[in-house]
Amino acid sequence: MARERLYLFDTTLRDGAQTNGVDFTLADKLAIAAMLDELGIDYVEGGYPGANPTDTEFFSERRHLRGKFTAFGMTRRPGRSASNDPGLAMLLDAQADAICFVAKSWDYHVKVALETTCEENIASIRDSVRAAKAKGREVLLDCEHFFDGYKANPEFALACAKAAYDEGARWVVLCDTNGGTLPHDVEKIVGDVVKLIPGDHVGIHAHNDTEQAVANSFAAVRAGARQIQGTLNGLGERCGNANLVSIIPTLKLKPEFADKFDIGVSDAALKKLAHVSHALDERLNRAPNRHAPYVGDSAFATKAGIHASAIMKDPATYEHVAPEGIGNKRKVLVSEQAGKSNVLAELERVGIKADKDDPRVSRLLDIVKERETIGYAYESADASFELLARRTLGAVPAYFDVTQFDVTVEQRYNAVGERVTVAMAVVKVKVGDQDTISAAEGNGPVNALDQALRKDLGKYQKYIDGLSLTDFRVRILNSGTEAVTRVLIESEDENGERWTTVGVSANIIDASFQALMDSIVFKLVKSGAPV
Ligand SMILES: [Zn+2]
Repeated sequence: MARERLYLFDTTLRDGAQTNGVDFTLADKLAIAAMLDELGIDYVEGGYPGANPTDTEFFSERRHLRGKFTAFGMTRRPGRSASNDPGLAMLLDAQADAICFVAKSWDYHVKVALETTCEENIASIRDSVRAAKAKGREVLLDCEHFFDGYKANPEFALACAKAAYDEGARWVVLCDTNGGTLPHDVEKIVGDVVKLIPGDHVGIHAHNDTEQAVANSFAAVRAGARQIQGTLNGLGERCGNANLVSIIPTLKLKPEFADKFDIGVSDAALKKLAHVSHALDERLNRAPNRHAPYVGDSAFATKAGIHASAIMKDPATYEHVAPEGIGNKRKVLVSEQAGKSNVLAELERVGIKADKDDPRVSRLLDIVKERETIGYAYESADASFELLARRTLGAVPAYFDVTQFDVTVEQRYNAVGERVTVAMAVVKVKVGDQDTISAAEGNGPVNALDQALRKDLGKYQKYIDGLSLTDFRVRILNSGTEAVTRVLIESEDENGERWTTVGVSANIIDASFQALMDSIVFKLVKSGAPV
């Protein structure tokens, strides 16, 4: 059977920019567009030229991508000619390979929101597609509210789509703008559309308001659509858009799609998907969703003892796909309920050789259990577990010693009369027979301590220069008689590799200090720093 080409259209930089709390700079847009292009996305929608200065600048020069750099905007305004509409003119002038227009396809919206007639709406679609074609652009039409519009007035919804196709639009994209349509409805309606417009000219743009945007995208493909629009990590207004990070591996790894379709994403690019997903979160300063399908930290994590021993014998027993294919890792969680098999599996994964009858393995298990009772969480802190294991089974070198630290927090008025809080830390470190003292200010006590600690590690400094702290989580636990604080710190190195460390104490600064120390020592071990 001949394989069909299925196209991916990314709208992270346009629809994804509607996400609450997301505000892309031009540098963000350039970096994300490059990432999408490397992944093999066919269309990268960059934004809405003319709508804001960032987007206008983004489209002010040619961005050389392998995929098609796409500008988004409205069809000509009702009652104006295409040549006399400043918004349309800006869109046509944008340095883009393709233009994606948005137009109403629900008669109710045409009358109430646009305050025009159905005929004028269709004329506007025709004129705009024609004008963009004349400019040499590839044209797409996003039919807004298509599914709701189709339910209310199928003839009109179809007429809008058909008008664009007849004028030469490459793609007619059916949008579930309110995100409330269910998969069986999507499949049925797309099935109706492809009787009129060939499926290899039909796209789907789904929103996630019933958490079925991914399912709706696949329902449309089953019915004949051949373009999927979505965003990285499902970014988007309200509950988000269809998540390309879930869609891509399903298309590549599930036979129902993989046997039938080719997409622009290569097997090699797929192996970078987890990294791409995390890099986007990093850029947006968001903690990655641990439970994200395929790419989340927990996506291939197993906790229970029997599952763990089966996974060691054959990973396929509890995994629907192999984690390496997406650039993720298998993980066997070491927890209070852990048996020896979990500990052995985890040791194997981190590359520590141990014999199952070695008494030190039992000792490690005892230590893990004991420390978890007082609040440590090794299943969330892989790097702290690895250090503990290495210390118990072999030796972690004593690279350096923090002989003393001091942290102060001061609140005062600054020179312009504003009340400010400043934190300062002083750290005394012994490296070999050399003593150093470092001081640093920070926006908080932990930040100050972190800055001071990493300021001067003597001969080890070069190993930790690329280290950065990417997430910091604090929980107050009530274990036994008094409350303790658990701090989890996520770190990243210059290669984008991440790890998590843990500290527990009645004192938040002390708990943070333990987690910071583990992170630095882990980096030194990982880099093979000499003693
Ligand atoms: Zn949308």
